Amino acid sequence: MRDILSALGLQDSSPGAFGKSTISSSSGREVRVVSPANGAELGRVAVADGAAYDRVVSDALEVFKEWRKVPAPERGELVRKVGLALRDSKQQLGRLVSAEAGKILSEGEGEIQEAIDIADFAVGLSRQLYGKTMHSERRNHRMYEQWHPLGIVGVITAFNFPAAVWAWNAMIAAVCGDVVVWKPSELTPLTAVAVNSICRQVAKQSGFEGIFSLVVGDGPELGQKLAADARVPCISATGSCRMGKAVAKTVAERLGRCILELGGNNATIVMPDADMKLVTSGVLFGAVGTAGQRCTSIRRALVHESVMDQFLEKLVAAYKQVRIGDPLVKGTLMGPLIHAGAVDSYRAAVERVSKEGGQVAYGGKVLAGMPSPLYVEPTIVKAHEGMQLLKEETFAPILYVVPIRDVEHGIEINNSVSQGLSSSIFSRNMQSVEGFLSAAGSDCGIANVNMGTSGAEIGGAFGGEKETGGGREAGSDSWKQYMRRQTCAINYGDDLPLAQGVVFS
Ligand code: NAD
Repeated sequence: MRDILSALGLQDSSPGAFGKSTISSSSGREVRVVSPANGAELGRVAVADGAAYDRVVSDALEVFKEWRKVPAPERGELVRKVGLALRDSKQQLGRLVSAEAGKILSEGEGEIQEAIDIADFAVGLSRQLYGKTMHSERRNHRMYEQWHPLGIVGVITAFNFPAAVWAWNAMIAAVCGDVVVWKPSELTPLTAVAVNSICRQVAKQSGFEGIFSLVVGDGPELGQKLAADARVPCISATGSCRMGKAVAKTVAERLGRCILELGGNNATIVMPDADMKLVTSGVLFGAVGTAGQRCTSIRRALVHESVMDQFLEKLVAAYKQVRIGDPLVKGTLMGPLIHAGAVDSYRAAVERVSKEGGQVAYGGKVLAGMPSPLYVEPTIVKAHEGMQLLKEETFAPILYVVPIRDVEHGIEINNSVSQGLSSSIFSRNMQSVEGFLSAAGSDCGIANVNMGTSGAEIGGAFGGEKETGGGREAGSDSWKQYMRRQTCAINYGDDLPLAQGVVFS
């Protein structure tokens, strides 16, 4: 690991503020990063103080004034080079993500691949920032809309996607002519410093080092500063609903723009006609992958009562095969939780199961004798729809299995929680599938068929409804949130006709 850290330019103690150049901070504080996999210290990052934060934002503002004038396809060319540079470091960055966030190596590398994919997407997008033209009701007039760069995009990210979520925002923002100030999770600042440094080097070669800037904090303080900062017209915040509510309030007070990507509480519906092989692998990956620490993890399986026994039997057999251990070791399927607090939340949820009338069908224990105390058993709970636990997002591999009578019942339970991120159905019946996808079906931002709720591709707009925050990132037309729309009307005649036939003479 030492070799990888130094190849990525990380020192024992790395700086934590970067604007047009590295900015020193006199906070005297450092974030100490410990791998959840084995408790080893991976490094330390200096915490940016208020002055360093201010310098980063004023640098970003200065760079924006020039960057916005660069033609969008040329901005795309810079992002193309960023994608190539990320490709060159994919293995090393993947290992770092794995060591720092505790996800298995294949998911760590997959996360960097996602950053590469969105860079590729953004390159194409740089030639497709289309505006509409409209027919004017006035003679000899033309109307159209155009999209201009917005300014600084403040990106606050969560620990569980320490690189990809930033890239979803930063690659799109960059081709849109914006500059980005990144405030990563205090749990995963090393990935942020390494990824940002690679992208900054590329930007520097084009004379725009400050497009991608970074401030590392050791708590909510810098995120709060960003949210309150009127110089930052758009805040994209990913994390818990609690954080999103605080950020939304602060940004709303200054009438800024917010893209919120918050907690999920995702369900899959299993119908009697489903292919059970697909169901078992889909639910296994969705509930156990990333140790249940994806915003899109499957937390509730809503299973038709006629196939419940078969479902549980196959799923328990699959859970028994899950290799739990060091995420960097090939063959491991499930690594640790991120920190002791997450283990406490897991334990507390399991303890509540029987009190709320449920029953642990598999797992339920914190594992002893592992390389760190953060490993838990993936857990299956036989639950009923009245349980309060089902309404909450416990960020751990706990799957609540609830019997349903029919698809309508499944949809009702799917929609009965306050979050609205992802959902899915396993069925080959057209009526069930189309009902689930209809206006009266799933109320989530993502609705999948014959697959789990996690593992989205970058081509679609990603995000969810209700307390998930309503934001959309990545593909489709998410780019529009990173630009300001301008409606233009041009008179090329000799008269000045007024709209709506108004006469003023
Ligand atoms: P968290 O809310 O604890 O922290 C996320 C980020 O917000 C961190 O950078 C943190 O420093 C910052 N922050 C915390 N309080 C803040 C405040 N008051 N003001 C400004 N910034 C603040 O979340 P986490 O534990 O890192 O991540 C897990 C959560 O993130 C889960 O709820 C998960 O579902 C959610 N998540 C959502 C998505 C999505 O796209 N919808 C993606 C990943 C994670």
